[in-house]
Amino acid sequence: MQLKKIKKIQDAEKIAAGEVVERPANVVKELIENSIDAGSREIRLIVKKAGKTLIQIIDDGIGIPPEDIEFAFERHTSSKIRNIKDLDNLHTLGFRGEALASIAAVSQVEIISRTEENDLGIQLFIEGGKITKRKEISCPVGTNVKVKNIFYNIPARQKFLKSDSTELGHITDIMQRYALAYPDIHFIYRHNDLDILNCPPNDLKTTVFHVYGKSNAKFMEPINYSEQDIKISGLLGHPQISKKNRNYSSLYINRRYVISDLLFRAIQEAYKGVLMIGKHPFFIVNIELDPSVIDFNVHPKKLHIRFERDDYIYNRIYNIIRGFIEENFITKEAKYISTELEQFIPGKESDLIKENAIELKKIKRPIKEIRERKKDESKSKEFLNEKGELIDETVQLHLTDNITGQEEKKEIPDIYLREKFIVSKDFPKLRLISSTGQLINKTYVVLEGFNEETNEPGLYILDQHAASERINKEKFLRAYETSQISKQSLISPLKIEVSPSETFFLQENLNEIKKLGFTLEHFGGNTFILREIPVIMEKLPETGIIKEIFSDIAEIGKDKSFAGVKEEIINYLACHKSIRGGDYLTVKDIRNLLIELSNCKDSFHCAHGRPTLRFISFKELDKLFKRIV
Ligand code: ADP
Ligand code: MG
Repeated sequence: MQLKKIKKIQDAEKIAAGEVVERPANVVKELIENSIDAGSREIRLIVKKAGKTLIQIIDDGIGIPPEDIEFAFERHTSSKIRNIKDLDNLHTLGFRGEALASIAAVSQVEIISRTEENDLGIQLFIEGGKITKRKEISCPVGTNVKVKNIFYNIPARQKFLKSDSTELGHITDIMQRYALAYPDIHFIYRHNDLDILNCPPNDLKTTVFHVYGKSNAKFMEPINYSEQDIKISGLLGHPQISKKNRNYSSLYINRRYVISDLLFRAIQEAYKGVLMIGKHPFFIVNIELDPSVIDFNVHPKKLHIRFERDDYIYNRIYNIIRGFIEENFITKEAKYISTELEQFIPGKESDLIKENAIELKKIKRPIKEIRERKKDESKSKEFLNEKGELIDETVQLHLTDNITGQEEKKEIPDIYLREKFIVSKDFPKLRLISSTGQLINKTYVVLEGFNEETNEPGLYILDQHAASERINKEKFLRAYETSQISKQSLISPLKIEVSPSETFFLQENLNEIKKLGFTLEHFGGNTFILREIPVIMEKLPETGIIKEIFSDIAEIGKDKSFAGVKEEIINYLACHKSIRGGDYLTVKDIRNLLIELSNCKDSFHCAHGRPTLRFISFKELDKLFKRIV
């Protein structure tokens, strides 16, 4: 890192873009950017009362030379650019030279800074922009800035500060964005003596894990694209972790956090076809561009940018990201789904299907031979009839048995006939659906009926998990609203360790969480004692599972206010309690599911907005078969 003198910027008036400091988070942003520009390896942020009484940043960067330190607090002074032309070659986050001056004007600042060249550092006290004291002090190389009592001299502004949790939310957001932009820097962040984030130097995926938790980090794919004029790196989220809004995603240009509708749209468009309606992709993406094609100087807080050629940038980004998505989420995902499906097919049957599929293709051996081999294997298989009784396996049919008149006389129960696929060369492998209508993957149930709006007859397909999730969501919501969530006591209380940011969320919301059915005490540090949990499953789940459920909930809630996450947590609980894809359903189960679904306020969507029930009218089927046009 090269040390340059801090000088007055010649084109200051043109470069200056207005008010920097509106709230504590703006101060945090400016100070972090200065620390990053100073080449720091570790940046420590200490905040008291959501930044209203103290914002302190300690870095181990190059420091400010003693002869420059006062000058740094004057307006339009910077070591980073000298005139407006330098903006075309900008490689630092700061460039206006007004942050320190603006911050010092509205607060009480104390700064200690030392460079490597000097044995002693300088300490400076500034009140409302005026230097009140300067002295030499021994200190480590780097800079330590304390910003106290923001707006102490402008009560009107102070009044406009929001609640602690809102202001803290903004600070946390900024801190996270920079931790994600610079995973190679160690970020430490404490609020009122509680660690909120401690993110040692890592690869980006680990940083995502620290910030957004494991459920997000697990489903992100690295992108690393490099051409001469553009480089794109970062992580793109699988469609299954898409979000309700854009705020989760982070976009950086030359490692500067920016908000760009244009680029968001380009990336969102690239996800077309893989996202559910109303969902936004989740990504952490850095785009490296030649600074001369971007104007970073269009917004007081340097958050918005302008490009020389919008459409060119849009198309470049779209094409690169689209290529990535097609390769990673469309082609691969298709494979993923088909293998997932196999898990749901009972073991032996699935082997049979697989092997037959292969053997039929290279069919030289007669099917009979395959059948003989299968006969032995199928011995171990047990079948249940509709009443749940075990059926003698010796009467099983072979795959290709025709149902001749003779066999009919034996009155083979329907259940066997339904079970067996008809296997034939160059013909789909087919069988009748089960008597319950539940399909082989135990995810969908086929029904028939009349459309509630048009009274048209037709075919319905029910997603059993989606339906059950909807029912449970509404039950939970009702119970929560009337404070009647039923609880079960744990045989012995569980000690649960959570992460620092989760601790903050849990501590702040102990009562609300209690209303959700979790009786919980703060044990100290990052440990909580869990005594009761809501009735999520019929039986008391294993401790491992309880811990997992609980830490998932804490993870949903960290860094957000409780109101914002209540619904998400209820969705989560509903999802856990629900019938899953893969669960066997009896006729009674299915009827109950339908009756309960019909009583829901929103029968047609699961807790996450996916459909529960789909309709294909007979008319549409007639069209499909060209009976009508
Ligand atoms: P800018 O970042 O736009 O240059 P600032 O007002 O934020 O303007 O800072 C003024 C100058 O003070 C910077 O150019 C830099 O030389 C110096 N400075 C500020 N913070 C630090 C820091 N943490 N470490 C080293 N130098 C710093
Ligand atoms: Mg700056």
